[in-house]
Amino acid sequence: MCGKGGGTVNFFIPKNLEELADALKEKDENTYLCAGGTDLVIHLRAKKKFHYSLIDLTHLEEMKKIQETEDRIMIGAGVTMTELEKSPVIRKYIPALAKAASMVGSTQIRNRATVGGNAANASQSSDTTPVLFAYGAEAVVFNEKGEKKICLLDDIIEGLEKNLLKDREIILQFVIKKENALSGFSKVGSRKAVTISKINGCIKATVREGKMQNVIVYLGAVGAKASKAPYIEKALEGQWLEGIHKKELKDAVYEQIENNIPSRASKHYKKSAAFGVIDDILGELRELAGEVEM
Ligand SMILES: Cc1cc2nc3c(=O)[nH]c(=O)nc-3n(C[C@H](O)[C@H](O)[C@H](O)COP(=O)(O)OP(=O)(O)OC[C@H]3O[C@@H](n4cnc5c(N)ncnc54)[C@H](O)[C@@H]3O)c2cc1C
Repeated sequence: MCGKGGGTVNFFIPKNLEELADALKEKDENTYLCAGGTDLVIHLRAKKKFHYSLIDLTHLEEMKKIQETEDRIMIGAGVTMTELEKSPVIRKYIPALAKAASMVGSTQIRNRATVGGNAANASQSSDTTPVLFAYGAEAVVFNEKGEKKICLLDDIIEGLEKNLLKDREIILQFVIKKENALSGFSKVGSRKAVTISKINGCIKATVREGKMQNVIVYLGAVGAKASKAPYIEKALEGQWLEGIHKKELKDAVYEQIENNIPSRASKHYKKSAAFGVIDDILGELRELAGEVEM
């Protein structure tokens, strides 16, 4: 227990899943899961909460690892942005995730902020979520009974800072199928808020003989949560990576934003920002495709 400035905070510090289940059993509406704390502390301050309990997730080895099997990658929810950015496995198989992690906040934030906290916080501007969605990431969810279940991450993120986890549930790790695809991420952010995205996006595609196939595009910060961008996917599917028709792509991007946020005043700015984001990512994919060919 610690008290500062008149407040009292109780800590649960589970070291393994058994202790985590015990801590979750005790969890009430005044107990919060704390990973890096970079979002949570701001929320607690905004709500003027001074007396509460925290379940500290930073000592659980199960949540800190990036593991690889023949066909899957498992990313612990407690893996930090810095670790994601530096991981050779992530850079090789999910380059967009390494890039997204590298663009979160500042060095100090990236050293603390976790991928689980980024998803669970369910902000529309979350930088890793569009990538996790594009890869169809599944979440391993753990509860107070010690049970695990697997859910599509998209199904448990409502958006606008609300997730659909039950009170005593927690994301342990993410599971992503290995694919022979290239991917990229870009964002436009506000300097004032360090780099919180005003718009971000991820493209994943298989590139065969210079042509893009199975294109998946997600955009963030143009709706309650990151969402698929079918107009842009259609405009890119089957196109030469080196010879994209910019006018057609621009029309598709503008149509997509119009469809997502028809009545928002920011839509005009977001249309050109989204085009810039998509154009940047295509440049990244060209570089990656060049490296793969070498
Ligand atoms: C200055 C600043 C700049 C930032 N810049 C960016 C940015 O550029 N891009 C971006 O995307 N974000 C940014 N953020 C937001 C934040 O840093 C990220 O969302 C971060 O990844 C949150 O992770 P965390 O470990 O700190 O989560 P915490 O703050 O510990 O938790 C966030 C929420 O998720 C819950 N939670 C945490 N872990 C789990 C879990 N495993 N299972 C279930 N629930 C869980 C917590 O209870 C809490 O409600 C910024 C924040 C700050 C303060």
